[in-house]
Amino acid sequence: MTKNPDINRLSSDDSKKRFIEESNRCVSCGLCLPHCPTYRLLQSEADSPRGRIAMINGVVTNRIPLNEKFIQHLDRCLTCRACESVCPNNVAYGRLVDEARSIIRASAAASRKSGQYPGKHQSRLFPALLTNWITQPARLERLRGLLYLLQKSGTIRLFRKFNVWKSSLAGKILMQLPPVVFPYAAPQKNRHFSPTWQSFYPATGKEKSKVGLFLGCIARLSDAETLNAAIFVLTRLGYSVCIPTEQTCCGALYQHAGEPEKAKQLMQRNMRAFSGLGVQAIITTASGCSVQLKEFSTDCITTDAYSAGPGMIQVIDISKFLMGMADWDTIMIKPLAKTIAVHDPCSLRHVLHDQIHPYRLLAHIPDAQVVLLADNDQCCGAAGTYFIEQPALADKLLDGKIKALDQSGAQLLVTSNVGCSMHIASRLRAMDSGIEVLHPVTLLARQMGMQ
Ligand code: SF4
Ligand code: SF4
Repeated sequence: MTKNPDINRLSSDDSKKRFIEESNRCVSCGLCLPHCPTYRLLQSEADSPRGRIAMINGVVTNRIPLNEKFIQHLDRCLTCRACESVCPNNVAYGRLVDEARSIIRASAAASRKSGQYPGKHQSRLFPALLTNWITQPARLERLRGLLYLLQKSGTIRLFRKFNVWKSSLAGKILMQLPPVVFPYAAPQKNRHFSPTWQSFYPATGKEKSKVGLFLGCIARLSDAETLNAAIFVLTRLGYSVCIPTEQTCCGALYQHAGEPEKAKQLMQRNMRAFSGLGVQAIITTASGCSVQLKEFSTDCITTDAYSAGPGMIQVIDISKFLMGMADWDTIMIKPLAKTIAVHDPCSLRHVLHDQIHPYRLLAHIPDAQVVLLADNDQCCGAAGTYFIEQPALADKLLDGKIKALDQSGAQLLVTSNVGCSMHIASRLRAMDSGIEVLHPVTLLARQMGMQ
């Protein structure tokens, strides 16, 4: 019998039993296969949801070895969860693959101690980047001025042209960043010199209620315009916005890198930050963060990592919140005679099932023609850090999106997740395309008068 000693990282016999039971719920019907982006690209059973579940079950029950091949097929999975959303047996694929990755990570750590490297599961620079920068918002904030200067001076453009740093992890992230925007400040202040967000933005006029705004990590630098737009729209619709400075990264990158305990610590910090503010809801502008914040409250099938839960504050994507709350007849929105394509992020479509709300929101913009992108159930290839770790597959998936966008005839592309936005916009910039990529709330805010 194959021995996989790192299976012992499953916290108890009970959690291992639940893990095996969940994988046994796959009846191998294959209905998920045509929806899986990696199966569609590679036509290999081992790169399909059914194949991966069978391999995970084999490793956990010690029937097959935890080796490089196994790691490679799991690394190729986008965790897009398209398979989960179509599975008639409701197999919790996302949880299975996250748990399998934590087993791999434990195995990799054990192998490093013994001088062996059982495959390349994550760049070794990535944990340092996560720990020292991405999960340290205060440090990220300090980079804002430097990035602004690098972009404004044309230095990044030159780096891109001469492929400087292109192969390094930091370089890849740097090249993906759109123009840096400064945080929103009260109208009487000069917004370009506001170093960070205020902790409170009062509602314009009579306050309906207070909400919390989740900033995320990299989005503070790459998508500040969306965060500014959220504050602008929410305050004008009568919601005061609280932005606690203690909030941090949602932990999704740790979660999908096989480190749920670190993800849990970040989540607990976030929930402490938002508790006691008296907010009606925590609003998110990135559906990837939204999934992580929401799923934290549910029981993990294999470990007790999530048992603390986030308390009772509702976490909600901003488009859904606005559609449920705003009195749209009274709001002045300028017309926009443009064709707008909508890209559905996997997290919004396959996990939250809230993909309808951005379309409804955009329907409030007079003259706007909102069109569907072909194959909108397919991942764009961004998938957290997938675009860095699996660039060849990510590029092929992006090719499909660019083709669909081209066929749509759209002048604008909107999407509700910062990762998708950066990934698609980066390619469009490289192509010198005139198509702008933005969040639906940013477009709405502009039509409501945000400068
Ligand atoms: S649809 Fe569900 S049960 Fe069928 S093969 Fe896929 S994961 Fe297994
Ligand atoms: S999560 Fe996405 S890439 Fe992974 S097996 Fe499921 S459908 Fe395929």
